[in-house]
Formats: sequence, structure tokens, C-alpha cells
Amino acid sequence: MNRRDPIEDLAHLRHEFGEHGGVNMSIEASSTFTVIDPETMPDLFQGRKGPDKGCYLYGRHFNPTVYNLGRQMAALEGTQAGYCTASGMGAISGVVLGLCNCGDEVVASNAVYGGTYALLKDFLPMKAGIKTTFVDITDPEAVAAAITGRTRLVFAESISNPTLRLANIPRLAEIAHHRGVRLVVDNTFSPLMLRPAALGADIVVHSITKFISGASDVIAGAVCGTEAFIGELMDLHTGPLMLLGPTMDAHIASSVSLRIPHLPIRMAAHGERALELSRRLEELGLEVRYPGLVGHPDHALFNELRATGYGYGGVFTLDLGDEHTANELMSHLQNEQRFGYLAVSLGYFDTLMSCSGSSTSSEMSEDDQDTAGISPGLVRISVGYTGSLEQRWRQLRAALAATEVV
Ligand code: PLP
Repeated sequence: MNRRDPIEDLAHLRHEFGEHGGVNMSIEASSTFTVIDPETMPDLFQGRKGPDKGCYLYGRHFNPTVYNLGRQMAALEGTQAGYCTASGMGAISGVVLGLCNCGDEVVASNAVYGGTYALLKDFLPMKAGIKTTFVDITDPEAVAAAITGRTRLVFAESISNPTLRLANIPRLAEIAHHRGVRLVVDNTFSPLMLRPAALGADIVVHSITKFISGASDVIAGAVCGTEAFIGELMDLHTGPLMLLGPTMDAHIASSVSLRIPHLPIRMAAHGERALELSRRLEELGLEVRYPGLVGHPDHALFNELRATGYGYGGVFTLDLGDEHTANELMSHLQNEQRFGYLAVSLGYFDTLMSCSGSSTSSEMSEDDQDTAGISPGLVRISVGYTGSLEQRWRQLRAALAATEVV
């Protein structure tokens, strides 16, 4: 198993300089590219020449700045190649459509981000005849039993949103590969600390919008995998990323590219704060779930799979039993204490809180939420690293007291 440290791979990557020798790569602001020799044009259209040979055609195909961020994402994930998209959903839908034809099937975790769930549960069967069987991803027998002769991929989130269960990636890879099926892992919640490809996944997807951006200012995504697979997604005649066009803008690529070097420091800071706050909440007897807590059902597995030094992630959940109490607490935390913001998304430098059942998992029926373990009072907290730990703890304590939770 390849357990190289992602920061060493990132540091090893060839650095791209700016046009005039700038330490940062220039932003390639062109949507179309000249060829000196007319013969190059058919070579580009037939895939005989491309960005790996320094040849560019059109911005929806490959853009040098976006391509460079794709190389950084590939280094982060330890894959041969990577390519960035306009959103995490663009990356996920492109991958599923790249692997499946009409009549093919997906086996997916029943605890995934609501948008992914809606895509697989309703949209793809209706629009493309691609059906998904949802399973408890922590139950290997259930995953194996759900795979049929039409299954093309198993889809899991490394850490599930919002239930924070860990996918046993090596075990899932074994099951999938045994049946000739690819394993696709959404690593949005655990960049650096988990490297799904090194653990056996074939394809890794990201919502860059979250921790990798770190500033809640861009929507972006990425697909990491083999050169051949990325090539298929970008094929001018058949590639879903090329033909559906979830293209990342070069300015976004440049901006995100400059944040990758401090991602390790940010992840460690998120993780440190999340661990300490969740420990203290646990001590108060509250229903808190965080993979760094010894009592978390996957804590030992996480320790087995993770790269150390980046913590256990920046998200914990607090189950307050019912939505009313959850809303009261979040409102107090935001409006009285300034602890964080009542907003969806995660990975921001400040704390973001939302009640998953009525927001980012509202695409799921009550029954499906119940099966996945999403209770109506479950608050997902993406822990920021601003302010001091003691200041944030005082705010949290005050809000818990004011809303009579503790
Ligand atoms: N994957 C996960 C785990 C997410 O939480 C999200 C969004 O919340 C997505 C994918 C979709 O990403 P985006 O909003 O960038 O399309």
C-alpha cells in the first residue's frame, strides 16, 4: 500500500512559474488557443496531442491554469492525473456518466450528501436509466450483495455527510474489484488525512468548495484518477466533462491553486479545534459524534487508514433530539454569541452550522434519513479556527446554558 505523505508529493510537483518569471503561474485568460502548424488541429481532435504535450485547443477542453490545479489535486491524492470542474456535483455527475451507460447500475452509500443522493436516487434513473441501490456502506456483506452484473461502480464518501461514518476503503476496494467494479470515493471531508487512491479507490472526487477552498468564496470540484480515465472524461467526442461542460474558470483555478500549500496547516487547525470542542461536549454528556473521539464507532479504523499530522477532520455533529432545540441553539450561537454562522457548507475558516435533516439532507425522505442515521435534531458543525479555543468554548457553553441544553 502506498503511504507516501501528500505534502511530500505536493512539494515534489514541478512548479509552474508566471509568464514573466513570477513565482506564481500566470492566469491563462484565453478561451481558444492557436496552433502553429495546421496538422496539430486534427491531432488535438483525435486525442493524439493534448496538454501533456503542451498543446491546447479550447478552454472547455483543457486550460493550462485549470490543468495545473488538476496536477496539484493529483499530487494531493497520489493519482496519475486530476482535472478540475466547476463544482463538486459536476465532478460526481461526470464520473458516474463516464462509467455508466443507460441500464447500468451504481451501488452507493445510503449516507451521502443530499445533492449526490438526489442525483443517484431520482435524476439519473429518470434521465439516463442509471439505477442506484443504496446500502449501509459500513456493512461489507450488504455492499457485496447489492452488486449485480450491471453494477459499474461503488460510491462512498470517505467520511459520510452528515453522519460521519468512515468508509472502509481497502475492504470496499476488495469487494468492488473482485466483481470487476470501480470504487469511487468522495474525499471532500478528509483531504490529506485520507488518501483513498492509496487505499484502493480507483477514482477520487472532491468538492473543492469546502476545505480546499477554505474561504467559502468559490464553487469548485475535481476528479482524480488514472490518466486514461481523465482522458476518457475529456474526450472531445464522448467525454462527459467535455460535452456537459462543467468547466472550471481559470481565475478560480489560479485562486484555488494558491491555497493548496497551506491546506495542511488549515486541516490540522480545523482538526485540533474540532477534537477539543467535541471532547468537552462529550464530557458534558451530550450526543456528539467526531471520528477523533475514542468512542466513535470508526475511531480505530480511522487510525489505521489515516496519515497523521492532519487531525480527524473539521466536522462534528451534535444531536439535540429535535429540530426546535437545534434551531434555538444555532440561533443563539450565531445571533447572541457570534460563535459561528447558521449556513450550509463546510471547510470555512469560521464555524458553519446547519440542521442536516431540514437542509443539506432534505432531499432524503424521513424514512431514508432515519435509515441513514440522520435524526431531526442533528446539527452538523464545521469548526473554524478563528478566535481562541477558550473564547469559542465560553460562547458554546453560554449558548448551551441559555437554551437549557445543559
Ligand atoms: N460532496 C460532498 C461530500 C458535499 O458535502 C458536497 C456539497 O455540500 C458536494 C459533494 C457537492 O459539492 P458542490 O457544492 O461543490 O457541487
